[in-house]
Amino acid sequence: MKTFCGRANPTTGSMEWLEEGEDYDYHQEIARSRYADMLHDKDRNVKYYQGIHAAVSRVKERGEKAIVLDIGTGTGLLSMMAASAGADFCYAIEVFKPMANAAVKIVEKNGFSDKIKVINKHSTEVTVGPDGDMQCRANILVTELFDTELIGEGALPTYEHAHKYLVQEGCEAVPHRATVYVQLVESRRMWSWKKLFPVHIEAEDGEKILVPPSEMENCPGLPSVCDIQLNQMPSSDFSTLSDVVKMFSVDFSKPVQGASTCYRVQLEPVKSGKAQIVLSWWDIDMDPSGMINCSMAPYWVKPTSALQWRDHWMQCVYFLPREEPVLQGEKWYLTACRDEYSVWYNLQKARADEEEQKADVCVESPVCRCRAHLLWNRPRFGELNDQSRTRQYIKSLRKVLKTDSVCLCISDGSLLPVLAHYLGAKQVQYFVLFFRSLHFSLAFFSHVFFKANDLEDKIKIIEARPELLKPSHLEDKKISVLVGEPFFTTSLLPWHNLYFWYARTAVSSHLASNVTVLPQSASLHMMIVEFQDLWRIRSPCGICEGFDVRAMDDMIKDSLNFRESKEAEPHPLWEYPCKSLSEPQEVLTFDFTKTVPQHCLSTEGSVKLLRKGRSHGAVLWMEYHLTADVSVSTGLMQLSNEKGNCEWNPHCKQAVYFFSSVIESEILSDPTAVEYAMNFDTKTGEIAMDFKL
Ligand code: SAH
Ligand code: ZN
Repeated sequence: MKTFCGRANPTTGSMEWLEEGEDYDYHQEIARSRYADMLHDKDRNVKYYQGIHAAVSRVKERGEKAIVLDIGTGTGLLSMMAASAGADFCYAIEVFKPMANAAVKIVEKNGFSDKIKVINKHSTEVTVGPDGDMQCRANILVTELFDTELIGEGALPTYEHAHKYLVQEGCEAVPHRATVYVQLVESRRMWSWKKLFPVHIEAEDGEKILVPPSEMENCPGLPSVCDIQLNQMPSSDFSTLSDVVKMFSVDFSKPVQGASTCYRVQLEPVKSGKAQIVLSWWDIDMDPSGMINCSMAPYWVKPTSALQWRDHWMQCVYFLPREEPVLQGEKWYLTACRDEYSVWYNLQKARADEEEQKADVCVESPVCRCRAHLLWNRPRFGELNDQSRTRQYIKSLRKVLKTDSVCLCISDGSLLPVLAHYLGAKQVQYFVLFFRSLHFSLAFFSHVFFKANDLEDKIKIIEARPELLKPSHLEDKKISVLVGEPFFTTSLLPWHNLYFWYARTAVSSHLASNVTVLPQSASLHMMIVEFQDLWRIRSPCGICEGFDVRAMDDMIKDSLNFRESKEAEPHPLWEYPCKSLSEPQEVLTFDFTKTVPQHCLSTEGSVKLLRKGRSHGAVLWMEYHLTADVSVSTGLMQLSNEKGNCEWNPHCKQAVYFFSSVIESEILSDPTAVEYAMNFDTKTGEIAMDFKL
């Protein structure tokens, strides 16, 4: 069997369907899975074990046999905990076949084959009865089906079904309940992930202000969750307007309703300000008494000593439909609406006459009407709102634009054509080139955006692929200034934005002989780092709470090594602190004033390690040299030299290449240098790399 995988080709900018072997999907899923991170989550594991112990004991004390249903068993960990705690029998359900196979191996290895039956099915397909998958209904229900938003992985419908068909009435559930907490905040930084702020431009003829269209101002945005490592958000970046409030709870030992519903709480702001954001997280009580509690509360809510790092559960940022000015001591209602898989929020002023009555406040799930939220993801909004970045582009554009410039911009959903227009002469035409997957939304939004700023006849939108650009598109003029951020929505790794170079190559015949290309070049930079925590997601676990899970480790290793050369993976490093062990080093350069060469660009060398620490991997990022003296970095912004603390661009993902010492969990004697070899294949637009410690 073959599978087809959609992937953007960085040399053509378009989606391509690649034929992959049947193992491909499964290796990708395992390699990028969160299983390793869960097995390293000591706090979670210990508390599940305590909760399972307590539940088995309660059932035994009643003189009953303890029959466990473990939905989503993964490695089989929770079933093995139950069997060790004295459970009589466990049904371990796992829908993902490679995981179910691994669970069988791990259960056998740990000597529990007679107590645990692994069933490779979705829980809703499981049958009960003498000839069924389960002999009888279970009296203990154990699950770990939660995501950062609690319900996003389908926990509610799974529980609803399990209570109807798979467990006894009055069963014990581990966890026993989950509670969702919220806190209202004002934060320019987080609000900038949803709104486009006006852009101020000092033009020749006075200040110009670029405004977002009204459609965008009132757009509720997208329903998809924004989950982040909130513990990396400094307290100076937001201001809390309310106490932490319990929003809703789900009792897993009773029948659970998946159907859409709303919850409303009354809030009194503790401070006046602009309510923009609802921060949210949850905790789970493993037992009815609430003594065994596992919480995702961020650092300002719980003592830092109790913080467990984890990546499989973080915190959520919800954007209110619009900003509401609130005064300290006023009464407001905060409503959480949810369907089976997602949650959204609404804030309303309480009126005296509706004090008691629960108003019908359920609102529709947010749907983007302006299309900007489809074009720009949250980090991209943040990037477009980054004033110091915009200033760099303004500064460089001012240098290269002349009154008679013919300018062509190549970048997805970019403000550059508008900046270029304001910074150049009035009669000059600017061209924007559109293509690729979001083409229709891009074209639509750009029309609306240019219109809102009275630019519809100043900036021409060309809807064509670069290789199909015709002289008529350009009114038979040659391009004198070619600009790009560059930014493309389909880029996954930093160097995928080199698509700009390919597009530049495709439009070569339309460029004037003295064309200025901005950026004039790009460079790939690299640094060796020690991660504070991120290494856990790719590091083997070995023994987890006394259970041998090495079969899982081996499976992850196999999947990571599935391709001959390992791949770098994208991570937003502002969320994942690391310490630099080497100086940042420029490893490759790309000259945009010339076309993409036929041959590959390769380099090799050695990086000296300056500090003691564990070399977990290399971080790679791009820098764009807009003009000779103006550069923007999509990676390292600042490096403190004594300790090696790094500050990363908060709007971009950097590429992380984990060394095999992390994946193999080898202890190396401190290396003094790392050797590297890199090859940019100009045919595929991909970079292959290899490191030796
Ligand atoms: N219980 C393990 C793994 C948790 S990850 C542990 O705690 O370490 C959740 C697992 O549940 C995944 O492997 C996923 O494939 C599986 N899963 C999710 N919903 C399921 C369902 N309704 N039926 C069967 N498996 C499910
Ligand atoms: Zn929108």
